[in-house]
Amino acid sequence: MKGTFRLTKVLGIDVYVHITFFLLLGFFFLFFGIKGLVLIVGIFFFVTIHELCHSIVAAKFGIKVKSITLLPIGGVASMPEIPAKPYQELLISLAGPLSNILIVVIFYYPVYLLLGEETLLYPLKVITGQAKYTGQFNVIAHIYWINLVLAVFNMIPAFPMDGGRVLRAVLSYKMDRKKATRIAVKLGHIFALIFAYLGIVYGNLFLLLIAVFIYMAATSEGLHVSVTETIKNYRVKDILPEKYVYINCRTSLTKILELVFHTHQEDYPVLEDGRLKGFVTRKEIVRTIHEKGKDVTADYIMRKDIPTVKITEKLHVVQKIMQSYATHALPVKKNGEIVGIVTLDDINRVYVMMNED
Ligand SMILES: [Zn+2]
Repeated sequence: MKGTFRLTKVLGIDVYVHITFFLLLGFFFLFFGIKGLVLIVGIFFFVTIHELCHSIVAAKFGIKVKSITLLPIGGVASMPEIPAKPYQELLISLAGPLSNILIVVIFYYPVYLLLGEETLLYPLKVITGQAKYTGQFNVIAHIYWINLVLAVFNMIPAFPMDGGRVLRAVLSYKMDRKKATRIAVKLGHIFALIFAYLGIVYGNLFLLLIAVFIYMAATSEGLHVSVTETIKNYRVKDILPEKYVYINCRTSLTKILELVFHTHQEDYPVLEDGRLKGFVTRKEIVRTIHEKGKDVTADYIMRKDIPTVKITEKLHVVQKIMQSYATHALPVKKNGEIVGIVTLDDINRVYVMMNED
């Protein structure tokens, strides 16, 4: 994510903080002094534990979470993929809120002994309307109860929050994942609108930001699932263009441009004696024309890190490979020989033609 920096690494997972997080720290410092700072750090300590628990369970199912990002509105663990089985998603989603509940249970007595009943229960009474907020608060009591808030709030079925994921997982037992996701996304949108309404009515900026975040995240994950579920029934061989053009290391950019205009192919495998030496994509062509002119040759601009994909590979896997290499095209191999290229446009065409929504 843009505007983030790495805070620490726990269990092989990078924990990032978004720079807007410091606005939150500054805001609380301004209003509550040092107490405010301690409060925010304490809250986000438990937010991080919550996200780590999702990640640990995900790892048990072979899904490696690379990073956790702390935003002013909460934490996000970036899952590279959706769990294959509904029960896996169920357990991964429940792990976060359960960890907070566990903390509430385990620490009740120690905190009770430390603070006494009245101080400990005061934040809970304020939340439930049994006591008036006086502006005074005990930091430890607040940080303790935030765990309950995290558990309850995250279990609201506002996809892609935990409760929404639980709902999708449960629905996936009754229907296909695409349909289950569609329902969860719709509910996510409805909750986002409710949160936005409440945020405006009560002048709560956080709720408003959370609403925007949920709406956008639900839309984007909904689309992702729709695409993946549609294209995973197809393989590279089903869509591989009949003809393709390759170049060699000495092919000039002038020549490549001619090829682009005449063949409409925008990405080229660079072959020497049938062997793949590199790959020139549209991005390198455009960038080089504007930076260096047209006199350079293919070996100068080609990427050497681009992998090949098998002609039998499924399209959703190909799409994932494209994403991780930041490319929209890949060379295709069959029996050790380059037989063409597959592009994101080709894959998108399958989605546009075959999606029933
Ligand atoms: Zn969670």
